[in-house]
Amino acid sequence: MLKEEREAFPPFALTEQRLQLLFYGAVMREQNIIKSIDRDSPLRHKAHAGDRLLSINGHPILDVLDYKFYAYDPALEVRLRRPDGEEITVRVRKDVGGDLGLDFESYLMDAPRSCANRCVFCFIDQLPKGMRPTLYFKDDDARLSFLLGNYITLTNLSPREIERIIALHVSPVNVSVHTTNPELRAQMLRNPRAGEGLAVMRRLAEAGITMNCQIVCCPGLNDGEELLRSMRDLAALYPAVRTVSVVPVGLTKFREGLTPLQGFSPAHAAGTIDLVDGFGDECLARLGSRIFFCGDEFYLKAGRELPEDAYYEDYVQLENGVGMLRLLETEFVSALRLGGEPDGRPFSIATGTAAAPLFRRLLALAREKYGTLRGEIFPVVNDFFGPEINVTGLVTGGDLIRQLRGQPLGERLLISWNMLRRQEQDFLDDVTLEEASAALGVPVIPVEQDGFALFDAMCGVLPELPPPVREESGEAFYRYNL
Ligand code: SF4
Repeated sequence: MLKEEREAFPPFALTEQRLQLLFYGAVMREQNIIKSIDRDSPLRHKAHAGDRLLSINGHPILDVLDYKFYAYDPALEVRLRRPDGEEITVRVRKDVGGDLGLDFESYLMDAPRSCANRCVFCFIDQLPKGMRPTLYFKDDDARLSFLLGNYITLTNLSPREIERIIALHVSPVNVSVHTTNPELRAQMLRNPRAGEGLAVMRRLAEAGITMNCQIVCCPGLNDGEELLRSMRDLAALYPAVRTVSVVPVGLTKFREGLTPLQGFSPAHAAGTIDLVDGFGDECLARLGSRIFFCGDEFYLKAGRELPEDAYYEDYVQLENGVGMLRLLETEFVSALRLGGEPDGRPFSIATGTAAAPLFRRLLALAREKYGTLRGEIFPVVNDFFGPEINVTGLVTGGDLIRQLRGQPLGERLLISWNMLRRQEQDFLDDVTLEEASAALGVPVIPVEQDGFALFDAMCGVLPELPPPVREESGEAFYRYNL
């Protein structure tokens, strides 16, 4: 169902999903140690689990970016150190760009880098105490930006790291800009270095690095004229700056002791949409792309209709909650056109309050064609984070259970995969899917953020759910990317 939530946990690049303490384990482990070797790896029988990868074609391998970049060529000289300290060089041949097939003890082959900022709007600072430790990690790592699409602020990059991004042509890089006004950026990120962000972006642009950007918009800080200034500066870097999402600040009820911030009123949200779209129209006419897109949440807050399909161009900022709802509706309408065979069993759908009207509309559309469809939509108020938070991906298991217990849920309750960590199949508050199903007395079934999958699930066509992974994997942490 709704994907908008990835960035609802601002850069929750919501999101993919996943983990806990193994992250700390990964940080403690030695780097570059081979954990396993794929069956079809050209290094099979030449390298072994426990070996350390030292270099490829003479280039020291410092992390996963080096590994991916230098392993690209077809002829490789791979330098390894055996566990007993012996160093050997093996030569392999493979296809250009073919995978070398090594898995390492930690995903990055290095410790993930945390951010050097103290942003006034940081969502992590607004989390209640006692959640799983990985949720509190503030990553700001250029490698995760490239590999997983995480957003970075550029404030903790050394000149050498900038050189390496350019030399390895790490592209695209996803940048949390927020404002191009140096003083305001330093103030909002509470980091004196933050003002250098635009200069770094100019360097990356000159080197041909593409950037997708985001602006978390805070009323009274970086909205209005400041937003216009940022849009002008960023548009000047087009096409290197390919897209920019503008999303409203997310405020939980846990803001005691933090910088006072206010949310968007419907009128202010509408004014911001007009500002962004007005400038986007100019860019479209002048440059062929509107570059700037408001997150779906702005339209929901303003009570405005979502833009049509064509507005979103290539839907590049889907992960940031830009166009997710429009795409869902478009896909759902296509699925309806293709047709299906509803099983006639009653079902229910739980969603955040913001998207509930859309789900009601989709259900009504489906019922116009299939009178046998029997479904109910249940918006879940976010008591856990507070009523300002209304996106589906931040609905917790506790709220779901408390609010839907005793309701006529039919024979299955459909929820969004975005509410869950995928492998562990648990909610943000650690309630598991199994526990929710048991508490509600009905199977709770996660559905992909996809209109086709949603229509199938309404009809009773449900993919088999893999068993949950209780032992947490070492990669889950990265994808939280709060
Ligand atoms: S995690 Fe992100 S929002 Fe929070 S302080 Fe760091 S850069 Fe800012």
